[in-house]
Amino acid sequence: MSKIIASAAIRGAHKYVSRAKNMWEDSKEDFGLEEEVGFPNTGYYLPLILSLTGEEVETVGDIEDPLTRAEQLLPEEPGDEMWTPYLGKALDAGISTLIAQEIIEVLKLVNGEGPEEPWLGFTDDSTLRTQGIKLVDGRMPGFAACVGAAPTNEEAVKLARELQSKNILVFMASSTNGRSMAEQLADEGVEMGWDTFLVPYGESTSAIVHALNFACRAALTFGGKQPGGLEEARDILLYNKETVDAFVLAMGRDEGVDGDQVITDEKYAAAAGALNFGFPIISDVDIPEILPRGICKYEHVVPSIPEDKLVNKAVEVRDLEIDVSEVDIPVPFGAGFEGESVRKEDMYVEFGGKSSTAFELLRNRPMDEVEDEKIEVIGPGLEEGVEEGGALPLGIVAEVAGREFKEDFETIVERRFHEFISWASGIFHMGQRAIPWIRISKESYEKGFRLEDFATILISKIKEDFSSVINKVQVTLITDEGEIQEPLERAKEIYHQRDERILGMKDSDVETFYSCTLCQTYAPDHVCIVTPQRLGLCGAYTWLDCKAGHEMDPQGPNQPVEKGETLDEKYGQWKGVNEYLARETDGNLEKFSAYSMIKDPMTSCGCFECIAAVLPQANGVMIVSREYPDMTPVGMTFSTMAGQVGGGVQTPGFIGIGKMYITSEKFISADVPDDHVGLERVVWMPTELKEEIEDRLKDRLEEVGKTKLFDRIATEEEGVEAEEVVQYLEEVDHPALEMEPMM
Ligand code: SF4
Ligand code: ZN
Repeated sequence: MSKIIASAAIRGAHKYVSRAKNMWEDSKEDFGLEEEVGFPNTGYYLPLILSLTGEEVETVGDIEDPLTRAEQLLPEEPGDEMWTPYLGKALDAGISTLIAQEIIEVLKLVNGEGPEEPWLGFTDDSTLRTQGIKLVDGRMPGFAACVGAAPTNEEAVKLARELQSKNILVFMASSTNGRSMAEQLADEGVEMGWDTFLVPYGESTSAIVHALNFACRAALTFGGKQPGGLEEARDILLYNKETVDAFVLAMGRDEGVDGDQVITDEKYAAAAGALNFGFPIISDVDIPEILPRGICKYEHVVPSIPEDKLVNKAVEVRDLEIDVSEVDIPVPFGAGFEGESVRKEDMYVEFGGKSSTAFELLRNRPMDEVEDEKIEVIGPGLEEGVEEGGALPLGIVAEVAGREFKEDFETIVERRFHEFISWASGIFHMGQRAIPWIRISKESYEKGFRLEDFATILISKIKEDFSSVINKVQVTLITDEGEIQEPLERAKEIYHQRDERILGMKDSDVETFYSCTLCQTYAPDHVCIVTPQRLGLCGAYTWLDCKAGHEMDPQGPNQPVEKGETLDEKYGQWKGVNEYLARETDGNLEKFSAYSMIKDPMTSCGCFECIAAVLPQANGVMIVSREYPDMTPVGMTFSTMAGQVGGGVQTPGFIGIGKMYITSEKFISADVPDDHVGLERVVWMPTELKEEIEDRLKDRLEEVGKTKLFDRIATEEEGVEAEEVVQYLEEVDHPALEMEPMM
């Protein structure tokens, strides 16, 4: 370890700890020991402190213990000539720095100093989970914590675009000589936020701690790690080192007191904190190098890298697996652009939504009927067909052929259109089937993006991702209002047939279920058992999809699971399924009930669409969806509950579920008396969810002759306190009140 870095990091840690201490003393005086402290929408208290010390900080008074820990970890202040042969002391200084930084950041909130534009501050648990999915399925190879500012705005934009196009999540914090990368991007009109993978945490160097408390929660949420003592803390750090491919890009020198160009002690201290997570530091400044040692295979600190080589160097040091698609279109392309929106005033043209007819369809065709890479446009193009700011109809029909391709695979490939199209910079895409909504920005239009580029994207990506089953792709784009009607009707007929197939299937019709273990990368003990009547909890995979997934990739995450002997028909337990689970989880799980949330329920990874939770006072179940951030009748928000349910453990009384499962005949059918249906246990759900599933819910209730139940299910409008809900249920005579207790 370089003595310069170690000394600076230790000095920086001392500064942070004493700043945290001063702020804490002030807060005690101003607000008292009982004053609540915390970040918004998290079930993990102060997540870094929880993870590294096990302390559950809820009040100003609770800060005392972690602060003492930070002080104990502080190495003595070094003299100039101090020499530490190992990283040890500097690493300890790094940990006390991070603890102090988290205290500082949360006390700022207590003082009413929340983040201001363009800064976002703390990431809540719900965002953590949505982004975590991208880590799980490999859309995101890792994250970069960018500290300071690039030499020029132009270089900042270039750096951001480069990271985005490699799908690397970008966290930004701190500043260099009063400038920060996020401000540079804001000045250049670059859209920032979670949707574009560019996340501005805060201007102070202490805001870096938000990147690390994100990393800590990844270990807790997806890695099934538990907070506790030293051993647990070590596990959490190791999990990050091994699983989360992250690195720090440290940019620029600050003006020192005597006009020297320096790196501040605070930045060295924060860097030492990141090193504990195994996150290497790549810098454009000639700080001393630190080479690999011990168990670490890669360099710790890599100095003097020119601005335009920073990302490449990081990828090399961290050995990131980047698959960059070569798609020949005039705008940048990559997962980082997926969530980008195009505002009305920035849009050149839109398709679908409320403005025009649109649909998307993928069809399987015989080999000789598909001309590979053929693109046909039926109707006007963008130049002649539309004025700036206007709308056009758009039908996108991809026809594919492959000797191994089957009709069953169509939906799987078609579902990816959204992702493929929205990966183009400046293109917004939402929805699927007959309800897509697409916008092309003026900027992308000016760069030359045209209709044919949609086809180019689909052809390239389909051939790249499905090369094992698809040999040829041709795409037809229809923009003529007259010509689109007939293909649209035909498409609707096909969507309908597809739905009928899975909705018409029953668990008892098949001998084989499918597993999905896609989420095991992050929740090692989690397995989704997907049955015809219960889709995967993320809502994205039905039994038919998993079956098709298995056929397309026999070694992949979807494996057939033979039901075998029926052990309990009501609960949905089969010998073959239990044996499979025991094998897959190394014996951690032995039993699984497909139809109960009480007895041996399914585990959850973290990406469930909804959580169903027993509400004992009502003798029923409430369901909350990810989109609903507020308090629920069980006294917890979605985030808090998700923290307890996720991570691959069975939690009786709580299950993560996909929205479609709610209206399944098998929805918690084992948890009601024989003459009732599972839906009769449902006593509460947020309005948004109720509206979203309204049609299916009403159909299902009609099927079982319980149409009145729809209005009897309470929402946040009737109440978010258990007593209010129960009162409402009594008023409307909800059937759950009369049933036998759930637990
Ligand atoms: Fe993850 Fe289950 Fe969805 Fe598969 S089906 S991606 S394991 S949540
Ligand atoms: Zn998952």
